Formats: sequence, C-alpha cells, structure tokens
Amino acid sequence: MITQVEPIVPEELWDHCNYILDEQEKKYNKPARKAAHLFTGVVGCECTGSFNKMYVPSNSPKYICQKCRNKIETTDLEGIFHQQLKDFFFSSDEIGNYLNNADQVIKDKEGVLNTLIGEEKKLRVEMDKVYRLYIDDEITSEGFGQRHKPMEEQLKQITDQIPELQGEIDFLKIQYLSSDQILNEARDLYSRWPDLQPIEKRKIIENITDRIVINQDL
Ligand SMILES: [Zn+2]
Repeated sequence: MITQVEPIVPEELWDHCNYILDEQEKKYNKPARKAAHLFTGVVGCECTGSFNKMYVPSNSPKYICQKCRNKIETTDLEGIFHQQLKDFFFSSDEIGNYLNNADQVIKDKEGVLNTLIGEEKKLRVEMDKVYRLYIDDEITSEGFGQRHKPMEEQLKQITDQIPELQGEIDFLKIQYLSSDQILNEARDLYSRWPDLQPIEKRKIIENITDRIVINQDL
C-alpha cells in the first residue's frame, strides 16, 4: 500500500504548540471525552477522482472507502503520521536551513556592525589630528572647517547607524532563540505522542493536516 500524506505546515504547528500545552493542563480538570477515530474526516480515498472520506465501521480496526473498499489499519495510519512528525522535526532540511539562515543573517549584521565601529574609531583619530593641526596653527580655521566638516557628517551617519543595527541584531537574536525553543517544544510533542490523550492527538491532526490520501493497492 502506498500512502501519501500532505506536508505538515510548520508555523501552524508551532502556533498550536502552546494551545496543546494549555489543553493538557485542562485535561486534569475535565473528565476525559471519548474522541472519534483520530483521522476521521481527514483520511480519504481518491478512487472516483474526488476525495471520499474513509470511515471506521463498528467492530473494524480499519478506515475503509465505501466506494472501492480501499482500507488502512487505524494503527498503521497513526504510525505513519507519527513518523511524519519525526521526519519533519528531527531531520527536516527545511528547519535546519531556517535556523542556519537566521544564524547567518545575524553573523552578517554583526560583521557590518564591527566594520562601522572600526570606522568610527578611525574617523575620531583623524578628526583629532586635524584638530591638533589647527591648535598648533598648522592650518587656518577655514582649512580646519574644510577638513573637519565632512568628517563630522560622516561620524554622525555612523553613530546613528550603530545603535539601529545593534537593535536589529538584538531583535534577530531573540527571534532566533524563540524559534529554537518552539522547535524543541514541537520535538517534545513528538516524543510524548504515545502518551497523549486521543482528544489531544485529534486536535494536533486537525490543526496540521488538510487531508491524507490513501492510494489504492496497485
Ligand atoms: Zn476508494
């Protein structure tokens, strides 16, 4: 049997992590509700060319297409879904790339910041030299103005840019840290999957999956 599972949308899952954690707290205060089969409404067959939802008849361990009798074990489907969570959160290039890119952007901006700080120092030294020339009567006040003025302007630009850039870097670092934290929570969610209540599993499935298409045996 070939199974095709729709890609998981990371942001939605991440957004939903906190919600799930909240729900977990609530479960200790509420009597457990009996959930429907986990994938009902999500899983289906496309034997007729359109999406037919597959259901679990009573006394059956399988989701079955009523049109063509295509079927999949409920436990197999849950296993595949769980595996997808793992593939996504533990080995996804997408997540690795995302975190690497964020890291690289921060490094690039820090490089620019260091260059600016270096330029500022150099500029102050040069301005100091011009000032000393003037004090020692080596140049006229007009000559001083001509040399000093453009450097003052350049310095102002640099000193305006530095705190702005520093702010951007701080913001990116916080963002980068929190995405890492969210990822860890999502991974934790994967690890705890076997211990989650059916209602919690159902909520996760509903929130990250549009549909799962079960292909027919060839
Ligand atoms: Zn079918």
